[in-house]
Amino acid sequence: ENQRLRLPPWLKRTIPTGKNFSRLKEQLRDLNLHTVCEEARCPNIGECWGGGEHGTATATIMLLGDTCTRGCRFCSIKTSRNPPPPDPKEPVNTATAIATWGLDYVVLTSVDRDDLPDGGSMHFAETVREIKRQNSDILVECLVPDFRGNLDHVKNIVECGLDVYAHNIETVESLTPFVRDRRAQYRQSLETLAAVKKFNPDLITKSSIMLGLGESDEEVHQTLKDLRENDVDCVTLGQYMQPTKRHLKVVEYVTPEKYLHWEKIGKEMGFLYVASGPLVRSSYKAGEFFIASILK
Ligand code: SF4
Ligand code: SF4
Repeated sequence: ENQRLRLPPWLKRTIPTGKNFSRLKEQLRDLNLHTVCEEARCPNIGECWGGGEHGTATATIMLLGDTCTRGCRFCSIKTSRNPPPPDPKEPVNTATAIATWGLDYVVLTSVDRDDLPDGGSMHFAETVREIKRQNSDILVECLVPDFRGNLDHVKNIVECGLDVYAHNIETVESLTPFVRDRRAQYRQSLETLAAVKKFNPDLITKSSIMLGLGESDEEVHQTLKDLRENDVDCVTLGQYMQPTKRHLKVVEYVTPEKYLHWEKIGKEMGFLYVASGPLVRSSYKAGEFFIASILK
């Protein structure tokens, strides 16, 4: 029971290659832009930066510092009650770097900033406005916190000109108190996602579920249903990986076949797209999936 599970072959990583990948990597050197893709040594970097059939290159950038006010049990980000204040130049500097980089789709994400009066929502909004001002062709996804259910903060994001509003539910309802920080609540997350659609029915919403934490199939099914019932358009499912020994153990390595099963179920439920696979992360090839789904 207490032994660590052995890593199955489908989770082995490949070395990134490809022309687009090499070009972005080269250009990034002079930009002083830190991507989650590189810093988290994400296994998907070749695919995301390379783009696919549509050549839509995706990368993820973290805003608002490296210190979170929360402590989820699956996440290795450092935690503090009082992180340093946000860098007021970050929105413009980040936007300038992104606009000159040659990226097609950017995912902006952040730590949770429960210490800030607006939860960091204005900082996000300013960054998006600046990106769009400098290069209106870049598609922007914001992967944001739950803002403790504060719908004014949700609205700040909805109105900033982004293309996709993402918030991750992370796990099934019964496991939420054991997996996410105690301030996070399953229903609250759903409510913020539903509110986005009420503020702007045309805005695409997205969420993500980690598998392998001990959830049952019925619970995964229910979570997909709950997301659909709250008008969430897109969903991603991927394997939970334990970042350090102090974090939650992996209960199960879910098989590739099971991910295909969830993809099929999700499509039947009417999601605009479902990205489902062992190595899928919430931003996995987000640009490719987005473009493919609107061309459908
Ligand atoms: Fe970057 Fe996300 Fe793709 Fe990983 S999955 S390479 S973090 S965009
Ligand atoms: Fe990590 Fe996000 Fe949880 Fe903070 S809120 S600990 S960044 S998962």
